[in-house]
Amino acid sequence: MIRYGQQDIVQDDIDAVIRVLKSVNLTQGPNIPQFEQAVQAHAGARHAVAVNSATSALHIACLALDLGPGDWLWTTPNTFVASANCALYCGAQVDFVDIDSRTYNLCPQALEEKLVQAEKDGRLPKIVVPVHLSGQPCDMAAIHALGQKYGFRIIEDASHAIGGRYKGEPIGNCRYSDITVFSFHPVKIITTAEGGMALTNDDELATRLGLLRSHGITRDPALMTQGMDGPWYYQQVTLGYNYRMTDIQAALGVSQINRMPEYVLRRHEIAARYDRLMADMPLTLPWQHPDSYSAWHLYVIRLRLDRIRATHLEVFEAFRARDIMVNLHYIPVHTQPHYQKMGFRPGDYPQAEQYYRESISIPMHPTLTDAEQDFVIEVLREAVGR
Ligand SMILES: *Cc1c(COP(=O)(O)O)cnc(C)c1O
Repeated sequence: MIRYGQQDIVQDDIDAVIRVLKSVNLTQGPNIPQFEQAVQAHAGARHAVAVNSATSALHIACLALDLGPGDWLWTTPNTFVASANCALYCGAQVDFVDIDSRTYNLCPQALEEKLVQAEKDGRLPKIVVPVHLSGQPCDMAAIHALGQKYGFRIIEDASHAIGGRYKGEPIGNCRYSDITVFSFHPVKIITTAEGGMALTNDDELATRLGLLRSHGITRDPALMTQGMDGPWYYQQVTLGYNYRMTDIQAALGVSQINRMPEYVLRRHEIAARYDRLMADMPLTLPWQHPDSYSAWHLYVIRLRLDRIRATHLEVFEAFRARDIMVNLHYIPVHTQPHYQKMGFRPGDYPQAEQYYRESISIPMHPTLTDAEQDFVIEVLREAVGR
């Protein structure tokens, strides 16, 4: 079976995890700060807060930015549901901005048009969540400029994008955002099984993220709002959650991040090889903006349905019939039943919906061999009749 994405676990990873299992701290041990420092150093941000998933990171990022009832969060419909659900967790409302037809990322022109209208209606968003789909960064300079003009905050959902660059700088340095979120789910660039991280350059946001991750509890006298009773004392100063990462997971992360540059290079090789070997086929291959150095989490092809006889579903099933576990990223979030209950309808975001009708994520991960890649292309050629 060839999967669209999968983890690479080597002996060093296994040894790192076993060391923690034999130690005294299974959670909240030394690997947590070590992993945070390693990610922070790669990304070039001042602070990093490790949590148990990117979903949790998105939730506490929204809370740290004071998102609540009466507020709006805008994101792209072409994402995993978590990028939008984080607003609902906070009692806020969600709206979407359609995608750019070339990058498949949130379109800054569509964002600007929607902001102009929202300003008239008095419904400007408090937070915008751009998602770096497949690892290609959004047009962050444009989104940031709109944030300055219309007063919204920015959380980058970089779940696909650790190891990528924007205008030559690492994604995660938060130059154009308040907070950046990474995911370490096994299909992503590096893994901790489940896991995520929130990065920021803002000292106060970092403190809040740290409190929200663990019940709103602090042992730091500087953060306490009343006097300390004794050395046993802790104080809950806000309402937080248990979103902590374990030391077992962090040890895996520390071990994995050593190989991140190698992984991203290999993903670039695979992408370049797909580009070359499929150039003559009736497909739209992933277009890369000149400002982008993608982490290549996904390799998404779009079928030119006007030029082939097979349907989207038939091509998808042709892969699956040969044990090639292709996937589709993403079903537009606004068409999900839970979102339709809020009044969203198919037809609301035509670019994202057109993309959904034509797209397939074909296998892309660092352990994919050239022979496997050739087989994927062969099956695709058969399916599209070229
Ligand atoms: C994977 C993913 C998430 C959620 O990550 P978890 O770590 O599984 O919670 C959020 N947003 C996007 C775009 C993702 O791909």
